[in-house]
Amino acid sequence: MDLNLLDRSLAARGEPPYRARQVWEWAARGAGSYEEMTNIPAALRAELEREVPLSSLAVEREDRSRDGTRKALLRTADDRPVEAVLMTYLDGRRSVCVSSQSGCPLTCAFCATGAMRFGRNLTASEILDQVLHFKRSDKVDHVVFMGMGEPMMNVDAVIAACERLPSVGVAASRTTVSTVGWVPGIERLTADGPPVRLALSLHAADPALRSELMPVNDRYPLSEVLEACRAWREARGKRVFVEYVMLAGVNDRYEQAVALAEALVPREAFKVNLIPYNPTGAGFEGSSRSAIDAFAAALRVHRVPVTVRLTRGRDIDAACGQLAGAVASRSDGAPAPAG
Ligand code: SF4
Repeated sequence: MDLNLLDRSLAARGEPPYRARQVWEWAARGAGSYEEMTNIPAALRAELEREVPLSSLAVEREDRSRDGTRKALLRTADDRPVEAVLMTYLDGRRSVCVSSQSGCPLTCAFCATGAMRFGRNLTASEILDQVLHFKRSDKVDHVVFMGMGEPMMNVDAVIAACERLPSVGVAASRTTVSTVGWVPGIERLTADGPPVRLALSLHAADPALRSELMPVNDRYPLSEVLEACRAWREARGKRVFVEYVMLAGVNDRYEQAVALAEALVPREAFKVNLIPYNPTGAGFEGSSRSAIDAFAAALRVHRVPVTVRLTRGRDIDAACGQLAGAVASRSDGAPAPAG
């Protein structure tokens, strides 16, 4: 729901300030229509129905994976594509992966989103509406900002969305904001953000290789990024989750694990998640299971805490790095990073 539009509409009618909160509480609980909002006068409900759409995003399509993952392709009012994914886990967790931008101005070599044209930053309402889309038909208890876009380039809206997530049922401790290393955003989140978790997409400790994979490294070198992460740890007392996508023959060798371990000091400030790669047609292959296990073992020998991430939604291009492939090829005319 466009919360600014809601505020303006209610103010224009001279409604008391608590009305916006009442409407939001219903939306946050997953209400599917204004009719359900029984503590709002019927005449006002009818007017809001006409003026303030229940969601700022229209649903274009939704796919469901064999493993239960759901991927929604949504559209903003100005026709920008946005993808969001609901991942379901055997232990009952329901996690929504949200986009913070339509497209992405950064051009990480392995990522489908980076290959599509950048649209714009999403508003806080558009971020929240991705979560509410799933909340209307399922439980949601975790949110990760790992969809399309670099959240730290849109940090005001990301913080505003994070601040409202607890009312949707997602505690700050269950919200993870991910970054490729946009230092000003990390510093802002450290200073002003709610008590969320921070994840850093690192992918290579070697500067030349990291710049090749992630051009943002030329602007904010890894040493500066890790310094900002250490400041986060210092200020928040929380460790940073390091995401490392495993690319066969590119960043999965023993000595690269050692270089990663050497970069992650102090040890207690970081935890590594190794991510099996989902091909996007960008010319990379995922590392084999044995290569991933050997990399993890090398990190453990160096006392780096590490887990190997489950991959979800691979068959519907909903896994990490795959978002936007279908959107770009179907709707934008941008180069199709065929998944
Ligand atoms: S990995 Fe993230 S920052 Fe890099 S191009 Fe993809 S969406 Fe953008």
